[in-house]
Amino acid sequence: MTFSGNIASKLPATETTIFTIMSRLAAEHQAINLSQGFPDFSCQPALSALVAHFMSLGYNQYAPMPGVAYLREQVSAMRKEIHGVEYNPETEITITAGATQGIYIALSAFLHENDEVIIIEPAYDSYLPGILINKAKPVYYQMLAPDYTIDWKQVMKLITQRTRMIIINTPHNPTGTLLTSGDMQQLERMLKDTDILVLSDEVYEHITYDGQVHESASRYTDLRSRSIVVSSFGKTLHTTGWKVGYVLAPENLSNEFRKVFQYAQFSVSTPMQWAIAQFLEDPAQYKGLSAFYEAKRDLFNSYLTRSRFKPIPSRGTYFVCADYSGISRMSDRKFVERLTKDHKVAAIPVSAFYKNKHDQKVIRFCFAKSEETLHKAGEILCAI
Ligand code: PMP
Ligand code: GLN
Repeated sequence: MTFSGNIASKLPATETTIFTIMSRLAAEHQAINLSQGFPDFSCQPALSALVAHFMSLGYNQYAPMPGVAYLREQVSAMRKEIHGVEYNPETEITITAGATQGIYIALSAFLHENDEVIIIEPAYDSYLPGILINKAKPVYYQMLAPDYTIDWKQVMKLITQRTRMIIINTPHNPTGTLLTSGDMQQLERMLKDTDILVLSDEVYEHITYDGQVHESASRYTDLRSRSIVVSSFGKTLHTTGWKVGYVLAPENLSNEFRKVFQYAQFSVSTPMQWAIAQFLEDPAQYKGLSAFYEAKRDLFNSYLTRSRFKPIPSRGTYFVCADYSGISRMSDRKFVERLTKDHKVAAIPVSAFYKNKHDQKVIRFCFAKSEETLHKAGEILCAI
């Protein structure tokens, strides 16, 4: 018998990620790509020089499974500096191939069949497939435009005997909102007498605006004890293509995480890890990031506020959402397609981050771009 080609898909309803679709469309139409989130400028030359340096020194073989010790120590120091919390580099920090892998492995390591996972929508699109492939069940709470706030009393009603995990993300992609200390305290109280884990996606940890702080789950004692915190150097160092991230979790959780990690990845690119570790000797590299992106946010917003788009305040991340209902009644999916093809600016439809494709006529722009790109795109958007 020959192979029939019939396979039962493990993810029958999963489509190609919107980031691939929009970046491809932007390239096809030579549009300015403000869709997928990545900088259009280089990382610091000193950082890439360090990679070359460590490669030439011969740091080219497998790194230790949980990561180069020097880098884990630097992550520990960075977290202490910013949040005043201690993570033991030996037992509580693991270097991963980007935050995407950290998320996927955390879901694989902790979810059992029929476990329920609370997801707060709009939600970054890699959470759901990782839940489904592990035979767990998503339970949704919807935040709505324009405020995208969380009513924790309503979230509490979603908790059942089967709830195993809640996923939070702050600063939040796609909305640019931040969880406040009030949110974190309510979350902490809500979980107090449960065994529910928190997966805290903190990849934009160093990008907050208007003097606001990032309320990491690590800052709250009870949350810290049940949290797997995921972050990424891609955002912090303008190196999304390097795919180096890290995961923080108490020792008992890190042990379980590493059981899966050692067979899914084993270890992450050695010269990159050494270079990042050395680069982080200067905390200014991450401490200056908010001001750097705040100037870009303000520049891009100066165009949006003059346009027929209605920007929704961005308090963190390098994204800003905008309501286009004053321009068109098209679905957001159709609207970004037309925007890309006719006006040569690509964006992301926020409905892509809702399971039921909830369309509030809101699209997301990435402003991690050079001033020149932002001026060009801004002028186009103002003319629509
Ligand atoms: N989480 C969020 C909220 C993100 O925006 C991203 C995007 N890049 C990731 C996770 C994945 O990070 P990485 O590129 O390091 O895999
Ligand atoms: N995090 C990036 C974004 O939100 C995209 C990452 C990806 O393409 N997977 O645009």
